[in-house]
Amino acid sequence: MADTASSRPLRRRRVAFLAALLAALLVAVTALTCWGAYRWAEAEARAALTLSGDQRLGLYASSIRNAVGRYDYLPFLVARDHEMLDLLEAPSDSRRDAANRRLETANAVAGSAALYVVDRKGLALAASNWADPAQSFVGQIYDFRPYFRQAVESGSGRYFGIGVTTGLPGYFLSHAVRLGDRLVGVAVVKIDLESLQRDWAAGGERVLVTDENGIVFLSSHADWKYRALRPLPDAVKARLAQTRQYDRSELVPLGLHDGPVMETGARLVSLPVIGMPLIGSLGPARASAAPSPARRAYLMQELALPEFGWTIRLLSDLEPVRAEAAGAAVLTGMGILLLAAAAALGWQRRQTLRLQREARTMLERRVEERTAELLTANRVLREAQEELVQAGKLAALGQMSAALAHEINQPLAAIRTFVASTRLLAERGETAMVRDNLAMIGDLAERMAQLSGHLKEFARKGPARVQAVPVARTMDRALALLAPRLREEEVRVEQAIPPDALVRGDAVRLEQVFVNLLRNAADAMDLCDDRRLTLTAVRNGEGWEIRIGDSGTGIAEAHRLRLFDPFFTTKEVGQGLGLGLSLSYGIVRDFGGTLRAENNPDGGACFVVQLPDAKGGPE
Ligand code: ADP
Repeated sequence: MADTASSRPLRRRRVAFLAALLAALLVAVTALTCWGAYRWAEAEARAALTLSGDQRLGLYASSIRNAVGRYDYLPFLVARDHEMLDLLEAPSDSRRDAANRRLETANAVAGSAALYVVDRKGLALAASNWADPAQSFVGQIYDFRPYFRQAVESGSGRYFGIGVTTGLPGYFLSHAVRLGDRLVGVAVVKIDLESLQRDWAAGGERVLVTDENGIVFLSSHADWKYRALRPLPDAVKARLAQTRQYDRSELVPLGLHDGPVMETGARLVSLPVIGMPLIGSLGPARASAAPSPARRAYLMQELALPEFGWTIRLLSDLEPVRAEAAGAAVLTGMGILLLAAAAALGWQRRQTLRLQREARTMLERRVEERTAELLTANRVLREAQEELVQAGKLAALGQMSAALAHEINQPLAAIRTFVASTRLLAERGETAMVRDNLAMIGDLAERMAQLSGHLKEFARKGPARVQAVPVARTMDRALALLAPRLREEEVRVEQAIPPDALVRGDAVRLEQVFVNLLRNAADAMDLCDDRRLTLTAVRNGEGWEIRIGDSGTGIAEAHRLRLFDPFFTTKEVGQGLGLGLSLSYGIVRDFGGTLRAENNPDGGACFVVQLPDAKGGPE
């Protein structure tokens, strides 16, 4: 008792510990799987982003190439123009005018930003914008510009820079102007690339183009323009100051932080958060050195434009990638929790089923135990019953002794009375009456002899002599034995037993059976008005069926099963011993036949003796 009381809380604690362990495991597995799902979804989204970024970078590169390529031929054509050659050969006011107008027209037709010619020393002699005094290049010295030097040295040049006169950025293409082998000047076209940036900004892109020094000179966002991707070496700074490539821009570093490089070649970077994208804003950016503390992560992809020495960079926001990955992680987590919930439900269901099964098994065991107990009780009862039957037999023996005493005492007493009265009658010489009395005494003695004969039969158990017995003759002899009574009681006998009815048995004993049955029938018809005996024998499959029917009281349902029991009788004491039917039953059975009792449909009882045919079987 104490043992179970102390083990119960122990068990509960162990279950609680197991549950906690399981919960911790679930949390760990969920966290790990979510982390995995996050990483996987992030990589997938990043790969998709990289792919579309590559495509867009290609598009932007070709738009730059197109924008520049359109004007490639222009300096070459200008360098061949006679009016330019004349002007450079021998400058004069009229020649300058003519050249100015020609350049103005050509510039307007080509759609370039400016078109101009400079002499051998770098002095601009004529320009398309001659008419605007604030903007005009005419009279300006450009000998420090790289595109001039390149043309002088190698025949042509190209260069991006902020215009020293206009302050507007542009791409310059130059070509040497020669008379024979002699260099007389340089023809230059300035191209406006600002419109490209506006397209990028309008598309919501983050694009920047850097020169060979890593300086952003084209960008979708104004804040990034004219800033160095990474801090510049002093030598570069000095050269830039000399060429005034970016005029007076301070080229403050962008504050780009490099992250890891992906397999695709894209790089994770972060930049300080910038303002609105550039739309319609032109010119150098405000040189703001104050770094913003907030940074944003981007995926940076690059594409080199080797013919220009430039690099286009596309920055893709990583926020959507993170959101997608987070979504995947949350979904995975929910999935796992759902699965866990389903598993828990399943477990609970199994547990319930197990408990039900156990309960059923216990119930079945209980039923089996009870059944076994009932069977035992039944056996005990049966044993008790058998003992009772035994006791009942003894009681019946007692009854029989009493009946016998009664049966014998009555005729004995009668004989004693008759003997006394006969003695008196003899002394008086009344012979006739003496004879009557003696006949009475003889009858009584006969009755007593019959009684003892019955008992002897009952006790006898010897084997019978089996032979072919003619049923009709045996029945006749039985009827003859009972003839006086039948006649006296006016019993009609209807007999229909074929003479060939031969059965296997013992003639004397069969006669005894018939006498018993006929006497019982006569007893049953004692108080009836119509007394009739119907005796038939019919051959059937098993031999002969002999029926002894009467028109008596019939057999009460309550007695039917006990008729053949020894000592069963409904007759008064002294009238019957209850041995006739049980004796007859035993005799018929000894012959290999059966005896049964039925009630006739029209009243009265019928006893059916079934005996084997004597013809077929051995004698
Ligand atoms: P007994 O004749 O001494 O009573 P039996 O064994 O011959 O003993 O008969 C048993 C009982 O069967 C009878 O007491 C009677 O109740 C019943 N019985 C026998 N034959 C008939 C019959 N033909 N009609 C009605 N009852 C019968």
